[in-house]
Amino acid sequence: MTPNDPQFFVDGVKDRNRRVLSKAITLIESALPAHQQLAKEVLDRLLPDIGRSVRLGITGVPGVGKSTFIESLGIMLVEKGHRVAVLAVDPSSTRSGGSVMADKTRMERLSTEKNAFIRPSPSSGTLGGVARKTRETMMVCEAAGFDVLLVETVGVGQSETTVKSMVDFFLVLMLAGAGDEIQGIKKGVLELADAVAINKADEDNIEKAEEARQDYENALRLLKPSSPSWTPPVLTCSALTLSGVDNIWETILRHRSLLTETGELQENRQKQAVDWMWALVEEGLKQRFFHHPEVKERIEGLTRLVVQGDTAPNLAAAELLAIIDNP
Ligand code: GDP
Repeated sequence: MTPNDPQFFVDGVKDRNRRVLSKAITLIESALPAHQQLAKEVLDRLLPDIGRSVRLGITGVPGVGKSTFIESLGIMLVEKGHRVAVLAVDPSSTRSGGSVMADKTRMERLSTEKNAFIRPSPSSGTLGGVARKTRETMMVCEAAGFDVLLVETVGVGQSETTVKSMVDFFLVLMLAGAGDEIQGIKKGVLELADAVAINKADEDNIEKAEEARQDYENALRLLKPSSPSWTPPVLTCSALTLSGVDNIWETILRHRSLLTETGELQENRQKQAVDWMWALVEEGLKQRFFHHPEVKERIEGLTRLVVQGDTAPNLAAAELLAIIDNP
């Protein structure tokens, strides 16, 4: 049974009670209107306690070493005294590369740490829906005292852009070797990067990783940096041997202190909050539209008329919109 008093969740989360934290996240992920209402109330009351964490996004193709990296970085941070939450945005129904993101079995050591919390991606829905749940989960994790949030996503379609819009620092993991990697789809993700790390720079791969590092550095030079005060560096690391992982964390902290000083960090978060508000408004409008009984009733017929050329698209659209204008 789920208690229906928001204060139960608020107190439990603030007391850092993991069981209540998990329940609060289940509430956030629930499709039941009563749960959503309760979740809204909980988030509203937790608002003064959020915003103090380092929000870090991590992306890369399946096999690049995301979970190994997160496990290594996570353990390193826990040993430094941080409390680390690992979340994911993975809207694909088949699950990327067959593995569940932010899955405890992929991060076995980290999952047993008492100062770490791992929660897989909400499993269903549109990217927008999954992202909303992850954002809200980030909020409750912050209120529960997690001061580093790692948000994992895989390089498929729009999910990187979405994760970029919810974090302070976006780390792109890459591999050496695949020569034409810098072309095409990868270029899009490079534009989002606050740093690129060539993973698996170990054993006989060290030299190749260094070559790739230089290639990516050259490629990044051609892109316009997202901040006037930060040029995204290209680093190498080994998630397996931990070599270079501390350097990546130091880079994140340097970025943080620099952009805090210039005010960009705060500005970025403000912009993200406003963008999120509009995304929710858009989602809400769409839902209201598509759930309206009259819209449901008329949409098929009007679509047919447009297909047949019997009604102009703008007229059909106006007619449909008029339904929610005059409820
Ligand atoms: P993910 O799909 O991006 O989460 O990748 P995984 O973390 O599951 O790693 C895929 C494979 O690469 C596993 O067999 C890892 O052991 C291996 N791997 C990950 N990081 C490294 C690394 O830094 N060096 C080496 N040599 N192997 C690694």
